[in-house]
Amino acid sequence: MGRIMNDFIKTHRIEPGQSVDLDQIETRSKGEFQSKSEGRERLAELTESLREVQYRLHAEQRQSLLVVLQAPDAAGKDGTIRKVFGPLNPQGVKTHPFKVPTPIERRHDFLWRVHSKTPAAGEIAVFNRSHYEDVLVVRVKDLVPRSIWEPRYEHINAFEKLLVDSGTRVLKFYLHVSFEEQLERFGKRLSNPAKHWKLNDADYEAREAWSDYRAAYQDMIKRCNSDDSPWHVIPADRKWYRDVVVAEIVLATLREMDPQYPPVEADLDRYAELFEAAGGSL
Ligand code: ADP
Repeated sequence: MGRIMNDFIKTHRIEPGQSVDLDQIETRSKGEFQSKSEGRERLAELTESLREVQYRLHAEQRQSLLVVLQAPDAAGKDGTIRKVFGPLNPQGVKTHPFKVPTPIERRHDFLWRVHSKTPAAGEIAVFNRSHYEDVLVVRVKDLVPRSIWEPRYEHINAFEKLLVDSGTRVLKFYLHVSFEEQLERFGKRLSNPAKHWKLNDADYEAREAWSDYRAAYQDMIKRCNSDDSPWHVIPADRKWYRDVVVAEIVLATLREMDPQYPPVEADLDRYAELFEAAGGSL
């Protein structure tokens, strides 16, 4: 598959096999944009283009796109979904959150619940958390022994290859928020009654294990990254920049997939006759 490399991809995509040191990657970047309003204007343009190409993807019914979002708490998975994918046609985009596995899910292999949510031909699926939780929270919190989670990197690679071989493009985004910005956002939740429902002990526990999570994120990016299923590290301290970069990369990828309207098989002359016979005029 030929690969497009626009500037956003070049800047934020991690090359396969490359180690990543998240501490060395900027969280507050705003790229070439001068201001937030410029970024938001660009997002509006991107949204229009995304809608057009989504329509073609839907009409073509041959390929699909899977977007995986992983991030520390309050990095903005929900916001990204709302801003980037919210304006698309809901018939063609499905979002799937992955929470603590249910008792039934636990009785299956870790990919079972995930596989059934992958996008059908013509669709975009967005995973809010994903199978990567099984090498993140599970690893950091020692929920299963290493002998269980360690082979999962390979299982994930094989699984994603199966998806790619079946016509699904996979884009993975790590939303890179700083330790300080995360605390700031927790503070805003505290002072906004509409966000009190989001308060959660687990968020603070995860802060205590920040460096363990960081190591797990870095391993996930290093070990499960390929040209067909690449990781991107998205600076996420500025919400508007986070959104615009994700939209740029999704659009560039959909354009590269280049979905086409299916060949018209209908006899247009006959339909014109039927239309006129029904009282329509052309
Ligand atoms: P979110 O933070 O995504 O908005 P929640 O507050 O409900 O939603 O958090 C979902 C929780 O489920 C997270 O703490 C996450 O680590 C946990 N989780 C997701 N997948 C797994 C898994 N496979 N094993 C254990 N915990 C998981």
